[in-house]
Amino acid sequence: MYFEFQLSVKHNFLPMHILRGLLIFFLFIGSFWQGAIAQIPEKLSAGEIQLTLKKLNVVGSALYLAAHPDDENQMVIGYLSQELLMNTGYLALTRGDGGQNLVGPEIRELLGVMRTEELIQARKVDGSHQFFTRAIDFGYSKTTDETLKLWNKDKILSDVVWVIRKFRPDVIITRFPPDDRAGHGHHSTSAVLAAEAFELAGDPNSYPEQLQYVKPWQPTRLMLNDTEWFTKDIAAESKKNDSILAVNVGEYNPLLGKSVNEIAAESRSKHQSQGFGSTGSRGQNMEYFRLVKGSMPRKSLFDGIDTTWNRVEGGKAFGQMIRKAYENFQPENPSAIVPVLMQISEALKDVKDDYWQRVKREELNHVIAACMGAVPGNTHRYQCAGQAKRRRGNRARHCRVCLGSRRYHHPECRSN
Ligand SMILES: [Zn+2]
Repeated sequence: MYFEFQLSVKHNFLPMHILRGLLIFFLFIGSFWQGAIAQIPEKLSAGEIQLTLKKLNVVGSALYLAAHPDDENQMVIGYLSQELLMNTGYLALTRGDGGQNLVGPEIRELLGVMRTEELIQARKVDGSHQFFTRAIDFGYSKTTDETLKLWNKDKILSDVVWVIRKFRPDVIITRFPPDDRAGHGHHSTSAVLAAEAFELAGDPNSYPEQLQYVKPWQPTRLMLNDTEWFTKDIAAESKKNDSILAVNVGEYNPLLGKSVNEIAAESRSKHQSQGFGSTGSRGQNMEYFRLVKGSMPRKSLFDGIDTTWNRVEGGKAFGQMIRKAYENFQPENPSAIVPVLMQISEALKDVKDDYWQRVKREELNHVIAACMGAVPGNTHRYQCAGQAKRRRGNRARHCRVCLGSRRYHHPECRSN
């Protein structure tokens, strides 16, 4: 993989041997990079770095599940990922290739490719992960039975079980109910498969061929993201029905300078082929969660689930190290925390949980890069320097990129 990065450590206090170690570290993480930037926004601000440091100390996971790209509730995903700071994913059973395209001539497979990319872009905005199954979007379906027959139920169910075992969500949330209220056979089927997979993922006798790669995993609860579409007067209903949890997800995040509503609007606007686009808002936004399986939470979606490092063997001391790093973080000098983060990186090797080690390794690498000011893929500086050198004979003062924007981006051009 071709990989370039630019170091701009502002403060000159790091000794050479540490810098050399960091460079080796970067060559090492080069191979991880593509995966990391596919899911997490790059070039973090100080506020975003602080939030990522905070997230390192949250050890919980949630999976949102529906049928198509654009079915997902970006408000709930944004809340889980950016407010609760959970490791969050969206499982779209299909890639939406049976849908419409409002921006171009591509349909069927090519539309599926476009919508896959739209989902990946949406997940970059809300900082979560994207999953699919092998289900084909064959267009509108009237019933669950028809959909299951055309999809090959066992194959798609095994894919859902696989994602649950691999991603290990504590909480699974479906967009749709398993009946006609869902309005589309694919939608109702997504809820039916979620409920069956919830029961099977923890059972070593189901799909045992997967167990050479993943372990059985039992999520704590399965909930339906209920709305007025499915339950009349859901707000009033939630007050008298003990199996419905009402949550205000419209929180404002001062570190991001955005509300969850605004993050969701940005994420939703990535579905360009569907003509979506909104500006977002601020203020309270209620969402409702109806218990389908597992234990009923009383106050929050993660009630009764330990989402600290205490849940992992050898994790307690590690959590304390991260808390200390978070408390000592200096927003105006992010690189000052790098030596501590390198110690944390070493300590992560002793955490005895492969899954959390992998998840947190990716977050940690990303935050270290951000604190160092490493900018992946910043090739402009090199192109610019090369062009300026070539054109110097013609008395060009700067490269085409800087000339085009009528300002000097960097010293190479300025000095020519
Ligand atoms: Zn849909």
